[in-house]
Amino acid sequence: MQKIILANERTLVSECGRLMGRLDLLISDIQDGKSVGWIVADLKTGNPPKVQLNEKVSRQLRFYRDLLKQNNPDHPPVHAEGWYSANQTIHRADGPPILDEALEAWEGMRPTEEPLQGTPSASACAFCEWKAWCPTWWAARRDGELAPGSRFRDEVVRLVRFDEESGATLFERTPPVGDDGELAGSDHRFGAILRDQALEQMRANASSDYDGPLFLGSARVDGKIMHLGDWSEVLPWSLMVGSAGQ
Ligand code: SF4
Repeated sequence: MQKIILANERTLVSECGRLMGRLDLLISDIQDGKSVGWIVADLKTGNPPKVQLNEKVSRQLRFYRDLLKQNNPDHPPVHAEGWYSANQTIHRADGPPILDEALEAWEGMRPTEEPLQGTPSASACAFCEWKAWCPTWWAARRDGELAPGSRFRDEVVRLVRFDEESGATLFERTPPVGDDGELAGSDHRFGAILRDQALEQMRANASSDYDGPLFLGSARVDGKIMHLGDWSEVLPWSLMVGSAGQ
């Protein structure tokens, strides 16, 4: 069987412009000196399948196959294969068209006017990068569903005083009212020493027009003082689209 490479590392884009894939190789399948179709080949370095391609890989290969077909309405017969370097085996991905499902998945990922329902938990929220835009964890802290953290802590605060030179800062804790991000004032004030990234972020904030509440991420607790540095974040407490407080 003779094969000829027609394209390599080609980017494929769907007609609607929303779906994109990148095929490794497009090969003309030549048998008895005659091209009988195209093969979409994806080069795989992972573990080869024992029997057949797993569903995820099969869907990926069929996705490239179907994008190619959509881009080339006059295409000859096309099929997709995974080529595994580990044991030099080839596995064919057969199955129904997949672009409608891919488009459905894409639609499911579009930002919505209303944020999805938050499901706070210690493991999910601990390193979540959406915290400065999410009112749910702060309400969960108030309700005791999330522990404050003994060594490192996240807070939502109002700036009371800031010394740009030394980084000495006084904050007022702003507890949540309701579940949608509305905040109240409080008597709870604490000092913090800001350095490096945290200090730069606070300086940028101080020189901007923003004077709303702030999210402090990963403040290190040291007695009654907090320390914020390169490991921390100081960001405007700016809730997601559609949430209260916008
Ligand atoms: S911080 Fe908000 S978005 Fe992130 S895991 Fe917790 S509830 Fe979900």
